[in-house]
Amino acid sequence: MMLENINSGYKPVFLILCCIQPPPAKYGGRHTVTLIPGDGIGPELLSHVREVFRFSCVPVDFEVVHVNSALETEDDINNAITAIRRNGVALKGNIETKHTMAPSVKSRNNLLRTSLDLYANVMHCQSLPGVQTRHKNIDIIIIRENTEGEYSSLEHENVPGVVESLKIITRNNSLRIAEYAFKLAREKGRHRVTAVHKANIMKLADGLFLQCCREVAAGYPDITFDSMIVDNTTMQLVSKPQQFDVMVMPNLYGNVVSNVCAGLVGGPGLVPGANYGRDYAVFETATRNTGKSIAGKNIANPTAVLLASCMMLDHLKLYDYANLIRNGVLTTMNETRLHTADLGGQGTTSEVVQSVMKIIQSKGQHTSDI
Ligand code: ATP
Repeated sequence: MMLENINSGYKPVFLILCCIQPPPAKYGGRHTVTLIPGDGIGPELLSHVREVFRFSCVPVDFEVVHVNSALETEDDINNAITAIRRNGVALKGNIETKHTMAPSVKSRNNLLRTSLDLYANVMHCQSLPGVQTRHKNIDIIIIRENTEGEYSSLEHENVPGVVESLKIITRNNSLRIAEYAFKLAREKGRHRVTAVHKANIMKLADGLFLQCCREVAAGYPDITFDSMIVDNTTMQLVSKPQQFDVMVMPNLYGNVVSNVCAGLVGGPGLVPGANYGRDYAVFETATRNTGKSIAGKNIANPTAVLLASCMMLDHLKLYDYANLIRNGVLTTMNETRLHTADLGGQGTTSEVVQSVMKIIQSKGQHTSDI
């Protein structure tokens, strides 16, 4: 009955109710969060997050769940998903997906997102004063549909040499992500939402996405709505990124645009990302890299994962802790001598983390003051 209603017309009230999340698990005044170390630089960076949390006396306990990406079975990822269902919130490193494995082995990261219906990927791409980049004053919020589109994992080769790969765009999920984008834009005092698409070629699929964005936009007269074709979007981004405010798009364009935007503000080591659904939230770096080639060398930039942990603390409503750590991280980024190799410096991961903790300590709030 409910589904019939949704299909027969847009029901903003229903969708707004969908966006309300239940409070995360909290036992004895402390939160339990699932921690998935992942591959490559994930384990070392997440151990630094734990170090900073311990130092700052953050009332969060981690339940560590390992996912072995070399296994073909889905047991490990199913355990991780069950743990997130129990705790409501997770912080994760990226789990490697080897494209040399059998086509039946699906991306563990994608399985996690779809199983938990984490439909909104949110990334805030902002210029950092201490980081030298070609473009200044970038401040873009990217909302990416996170559960369908080109990531359906539905591919087949019925006729040898002819592969069909299905891109799924649904009205319900397009309305849901558009509603999320406009609601967030209003909450954050933003003025414009740009839908990114390729409706001139994928007239039905992207046409539907665009139409849904238009319908939702009609309910937000205070926010300007416009649209841009994805190829032009990437060109505009690298030439005049300051023109963008909030952007909403289907899954694969979201991946490409997020990576372009991360590059614009300094790279994958700097930008945090979040995946929100109705019931669960999972935090990670925005561009979801494993960084295998720099793993174990103490040179990875810990900024993105530390800022992701701050987004997680905001989600848990531990705002003071989030602000304390965020301030430590952003202040450290102003110190050029501490910049890691990705920013052209010679600083190490542990030097950055030590500096963050020193700033936290200097605020005199790392014990029970909060
Ligand atoms: P894979 O490792 O499976 O190839 P990928 O293609 O998604 O994953 P990566 O190679 O992991 O991407 O990362 C892209 C680039 O970004 C690499 O050069 C990597 O070293 C760099 N990178 C990613 N994360 C960080 C970080 N936190 N600090 C510094 N460099 C990073």
